[in-house]
Amino acid sequence: MFILEKLAEYAKTDRIAIVYGDERVSFAALDRRADAFAAYLKRELPESGAPVLIYGHKDSAIPACMFGALKAGRGYIPVDTTFPPERVQQIIAQAQPELVVDLCGAKLTAQRVLKRDALDEVFAQPCKPAPREGWIRPEQTAYILFTSGSTGQPKGVQITAGNLAAFHEGVRVWFGGMKPGGAFLNEISYSFDVSVCALYEALSRGMTLWTADKQTLSDPHALFALLREAQIDEWVSTPSLAEICVQSAQFTNELLPKVRQFLFCGEVLTKKLAAEMFRRFPGVPIVNAYGPTEATVLVTGAEMTPQMLAADAPLPIGAPFYNVQAVIAGENGEALGEGQDGELLLLGDAVSPGYLNRPDLNARAFFTAPDGRRGYHTGDLCRMQDGNIYYLGRLDSQVKLNGFRVELEDVENNLVKLPNIARAAVLPVMQDGKVTALTAFVLLEKPDGESSLARARRVKNALAAYLPSYMIPRKILAVDSFPLNTNGKIDKKQLAAQL
Ligand code: AMP
Repeated sequence: MFILEKLAEYAKTDRIAIVYGDERVSFAALDRRADAFAAYLKRELPESGAPVLIYGHKDSAIPACMFGALKAGRGYIPVDTTFPPERVQQIIAQAQPELVVDLCGAKLTAQRVLKRDALDEVFAQPCKPAPREGWIRPEQTAYILFTSGSTGQPKGVQITAGNLAAFHEGVRVWFGGMKPGGAFLNEISYSFDVSVCALYEALSRGMTLWTADKQTLSDPHALFALLREAQIDEWVSTPSLAEICVQSAQFTNELLPKVRQFLFCGEVLTKKLAAEMFRRFPGVPIVNAYGPTEATVLVTGAEMTPQMLAADAPLPIGAPFYNVQAVIAGENGEALGEGQDGELLLLGDAVSPGYLNRPDLNARAFFTAPDGRRGYHTGDLCRMQDGNIYYLGRLDSQVKLNGFRVELEDVENNLVKLPNIARAAVLPVMQDGKVTALTAFVLLEKPDGESSLARARRVKNALAAYLPSYMIPRKILAVDSFPLNTNGKIDKKQLAAQL
């Protein structure tokens, strides 16, 4: 597999792979730790090939465990600490990993748990390079990422080593110019697939991952200090991170004098942000790239131009990579022509084999074309015009909040699990066409005698046991009844008027 070959190649140099705080991990150390972890997996676990779950944040041990799993012919499931232990437990129940690497000292119930100290002992064991014939094969699952699921349980997107190879080929158009030895901003949690750009694209091109954890990201001083020290060459982020950065006058080409391009993805890139970035970083290309986790990170992209900013249309998400086919489909699945709005379908080798153990969801979301290619229904309303695709919104109740994917029904289903909540409806709060927060309306089973403030605090705390923090609604409002539509469902349009 390309990344494992490249790690072994750079391990012969003195290049640094990961910087995290004061820690410097060389490619040699990363590759060696991965080999040691692979040897441990081969020695200790049955040959079932079940993936390894890794629970942690931006710990430099995580990439070593990921690549070690791949070297042992296994996949991995990265779970960020924003997921509370209860949700991790749901993932464990679904995925049945034979090993959980717990880097944050949580109390998890699993077949076997490897804690931080024990992992350090594993890394310190003498070992030989893992034999190539045992490495992950193209048809095997390399990773499973759990995203918000409308049932109230996360769903696991399976990505094979073959999917990753297809992504690596397709995205070359935007990442081929990465500078070996350059600095890559590594700020996306490893449980989100945009982090694959750091782990597979930047590392395979010999770049150094300058790691910003959530504490650093929440403190502009700390983030800017890191950017200044790193002299970032390559920027890949959600527009949300750049929106925070542009709030400071310091975020200019003096802070990032070497940056080659800004690649934004994961959510709508607004014209306002693109114009601001052009003003602050004259001459630095801005790429708007798009892709769902289910089709391996990114499948389209376009370099933004002044004409696009001036046009009477949203910024395009660009043309599909050469190895991806994009079809705009009408309600009956028929292919639509230029200028017509419909659902974006993606076909190609980067499309996932499906969600883990969810034949019900797979039947709806995935398909196999008559020529054998795998296809995915994105749920994104799009239009094709002059070779570019335009993203117009969602066809379901999935939203992006600060770059995080949230199914509103996921929040609703977790709300009704709490005591005394009979029904719940969650609505996005919009500002300038972007979701800025969630508001939950709840119908109580019986009066609770609490003030709205006390109730909101209690419900949010209770919800935090089940949901990542970014999915917790900012406001919880109790209602006496819900407006219903003719199907007896909650009429969210009427409810939105109360926002
Ligand atoms: P995720 O799987 O978390 O990456 O989320 C994928 C979804 O994010 C897509 O289906 C879109 O709804 C949205 N998305 C990703 N990139 C963009 C973009 N450049 N512009 C608008 N929406 C995007």
